[in-house]
Amino acid sequence: MEIKPFENRIYLSSPTMHGKELEYVTHAYNTNWMSTVGENVNEAEKLICEKVGCKYAVALSSGTSALHLATKLASVKDGDGVFCSDMTFSASVNPVVYERGIPIFIDAEYETWNMDAEALEKAVELYPNVKVLIMANLYGTPAKMDEITAVCKKHGITIIEDAAESLGATYKGRQTGTFGSFNAISFNGNKIITGSSGGMLLTDDFEAANKARKWSTQSRESAPWYQHEEVGYNYRMSNVIAGVVRGQFYYLEEHIKQKKEIYMRYKEGLKDLPIQMNPYDEETMQPNFWLSCMIIDKDAMCKQVRGDKQAKFFKEKGKSCPTEILQAIENINAEGRPIWKPMHMQPIFQNNPFITREGNGRTKTNVCGEDKISCVCEDIFERGLCLPSDNKMTKEQQNVIIEIIKRCF
Ligand SMILES: *Cc1c(COP(=O)(O)O)cnc(C)c1O
Repeated sequence: MEIKPFENRIYLSSPTMHGKELEYVTHAYNTNWMSTVGENVNEAEKLICEKVGCKYAVALSSGTSALHLATKLASVKDGDGVFCSDMTFSASVNPVVYERGIPIFIDAEYETWNMDAEALEKAVELYPNVKVLIMANLYGTPAKMDEITAVCKKHGITIIEDAAESLGATYKGRQTGTFGSFNAISFNGNKIITGSSGGMLLTDDFEAANKARKWSTQSRESAPWYQHEEVGYNYRMSNVIAGVVRGQFYYLEEHIKQKKEIYMRYKEGLKDLPIQMNPYDEETMQPNFWLSCMIIDKDAMCKQVRGDKQAKFFKEKGKSCPTEILQAIENINAEGRPIWKPMHMQPIFQNNPFITREGNGRTKTNVCGEDKISCVCEDIFERGLCLPSDNKMTKEQQNVIIEIIKRCF
């Protein structure tokens, strides 16, 4: 059977509007509350606090700005090391660099693809003075929070949780975005719900929330004139954006349900192939299933060569690789993506420390299987990929994508 490309492109994860968003945006417009103050901002903060179970939410222009202010709240200063997830999007770690801190990347584990508490323990041995950690919940799957929290407690390390991808996910019944002293969520266009852009800083610390609010609005002191004692930022969320967020909020659970169905359909449809879906612990975790991903078994990988900007593969019967599958998906006008390339492999972070369970991951003594693959992150990047996970994708369209993947093996 010949498969024709989709007429309308199927995206990895794109915004899905419902109508309610426009009502709140229109209200802002009609009442001229078109700045960074207004009912939508206040209500969006309140709704998120109630949902997530935090005391304070500060609505900001992006998840990145939330992470930046979190980094400042955690007192990261010039030359300070900060333990960071290695397998994450660069926005998790750039704010450390804004503050002239030094990201120290921690390898992932295979059970959730998130920061490995054992590797973290190793990093603490090597860098006992580091007092801040930023951990992400990749693709909407919570990290092993008990294990990570235990290490941090033992060594007095402040946790910043990057829950940009995991809004609505829970670990042991508790929402992600509450495990850190300071937490960030994102309303970027590709996230589980969106404001078109935007983010929030979440915390239970009253003074921290006030500081973040002040810093985000240019650090104005209460004085008759513009009086400044600290550096300020223009990071506050617009009341228009907040209207979109406020409208989307009511569809968070619906989006999670759709994303879970997508994940389960892939899991079922691909079950006879030598692959696994992005894993989670069913006992303790309820992911938000933001992105469905797969990883090819080691012995079912055909040869694939990745340079800095291009990739090649060598076809083998019964085997495949991310490069081949991504190309096949692209050929039918659907969007997949490689696994987020680990931070320690990024040219801008080539001189930053990278720690695995064995210690220094830069020495490549701890080869885990293939040539040149020296850690869990590199292995998942080599063998894994993100599948089209848009919640507007129909069952029929997804079946076509599943069929296309099967044909790669
Ligand atoms: C999207 C994302 C961010 C950044 O959020 P923005 O709102 O786009 O600034 C940070 N960390 C992770 C892991 C993300 O996926």
